[in-house]
Amino acid sequence: MKQQTLKSSCSFSGIGLHSGKPVEMQLLPAPDDYGIVFQRADLGDEALVHAVVDHVASTRRSTGLAENGIRVRTAEHLLAAFRCLGVDNVLVRLNAEEVPILDGSALPYANALRACGLIEQQADRRYRVVRRHAEYRDSRSGSSIIVDPCRELIVDLTIDFKSELVGKQQACYDSTVDFATQIAPCRTFCFYREVAMLRLFGLIKGGSLDNALVLNDRKQCYMGGKTPLFDNEPARHKLLDLLGDFALAGLPVQGRITAYKPGHKINTLALKQFLSDEVL
Ligand SMILES: [Zn+2]
Repeated sequence: MKQQTLKSSCSFSGIGLHSGKPVEMQLLPAPDDYGIVFQRADLGDEALVHAVVDHVASTRRSTGLAENGIRVRTAEHLLAAFRCLGVDNVLVRLNAEEVPILDGSALPYANALRACGLIEQQADRRYRVVRRHAEYRDSRSGSSIIVDPCRELIVDLTIDFKSELVGKQQACYDSTVDFATQIAPCRTFCFYREVAMLRLFGLIKGGSLDNALVLNDRKQCYMGGKTPLFDNEPARHKLLDLLGDFALAGLPVQGRITAYKPGHKINTLALKQFLSDEVL
């Protein structure tokens, strides 16, 4: 299998979920072995952030990267789309810090990548292969990420919220799952009871019912009359997040990932640990 990049460029405009600031974003073809690289065009041509786990700078409700003081926020949905749709090399040009949230899912990215088309490059695709069983656990939250060798990427994920509306849900990804229709459309979600606290911490300034599902536990409903696309849409969104976070391995991962109550923090800490232990 050869590496791939975009056949043509495409652009988006929107707002950042947490910053609330407007942003323009372009996805541009890139040469062999370039990887996924962000450019903060508002800070100059050299303001680059390579999408690798060593550059993770924040994991509070999104995954933020920083390299040489240059920051990029909420990269995970876009990264998942690149990795799952076979984009190895791409330059992401932004004119602000945060990737646009759009509708809170990765569907607009998946549609745009399909419309752009992909081209095969000269170099062979390389992988991060899981070599042995390894576990990463957070005893406080009870969350865990376990990896095992496998010839393809398989993710088996479980969420378990103290909520009758969501509760325990599972979602799976493997080569038979069509990312564009089964995972990409699943939207960001939060609980209504968290909204005031998140705003207090300066988060979700751009959040609205247009870009997030808001779950009201007390009334047992999705706010704004929204209905989930799948019974387990929240678990599928967490799967999207994990696929985006694991894209920070720098190369596609080959292995089985079993995740229990995952989040950006444990996803990226586990990935970092596995890479440094040469598990993958
Ligand atoms: Zn997300």
